[in-house]
Amino acid sequence: MAIGAKIKELHDLLPQGITLVAVSKFHPVEAIKEAYEAGQRIFGESRVQELLIKHETLPKDIEWQMIGHLQTNKVRQIVPFISLVQSVDSVRLIECINREAQRIDRVVDILLEIHIAQEESKTGWRYEELVDYLRSEEFSALKNIRVRGVMGMATNTDDEEIVRADFEQLAHHYNELKPLFGEEFDTLSMGMSDDYALAIGCGSTMVRIGSSIFGDRY
Ligand SMILES: *Cc1c(COP(=O)(O)O)cnc(C)c1O
Repeated sequence: MAIGAKIKELHDLLPQGITLVAVSKFHPVEAIKEAYEAGQRIFGESRVQELLIKHETLPKDIEWQMIGHLQTNKVRQIVPFISLVQSVDSVRLIECINREAQRIDRVVDILLEIHIAQEESKTGWRYEELVDYLRSEEFSALKNIRVRGVMGMATNTDDEEIVRADFEQLAHHYNELKPLFGEEFDTLSMGMSDDYALAIGCGSTMVRIGSSIFGDRY
């Protein structure tokens, strides 16, 4: 299916209240333009260099989100325009984003990435460590980040029960963390091309869909 038609299909299919992030990493600006013309405004990228070029080239009403691992030495380049950093997985990174945001008098929206998959390789906080940090004075002192919710990736497996259990765990953490924050804590980002329906069934409010919109990445 063409990119524009796929976007329209997803906009029709996704329940009210679910935000679609079109994951455009590794795909050219022409592909993003097709999605944009079909009405899509939120795009997710995983590499800073690529994100900067696309942000320069494409319409200014696009909301760019960072979904991939972010190095602290690249934070300064994206802080002026990024609309959400989904992949915040360390104290070092959260403090760096806060510092850079403060420098330009901005408040940056972030999600806390939590490790839920069974694979060791997947990134994200261990939940217990995250909770300790969120209760610390260091964390309370950060005024230039706004925590909007959590993000996670399920185990990479065909076993639906394992994927469902991962999503249920993340949804549980989301609900446990909610009381620590205000109304603005409203985003549970989980679900990708192969598992978004399952994620929505488990309470997702934001899905990140790449290959089923844009095709395979090379
Ligand atoms: C690449 C990526 C996606 C999109 O994956 P698809 O399977 O192509 O839909 C979603 N989330 C993150 C964090 C990613 O890195």
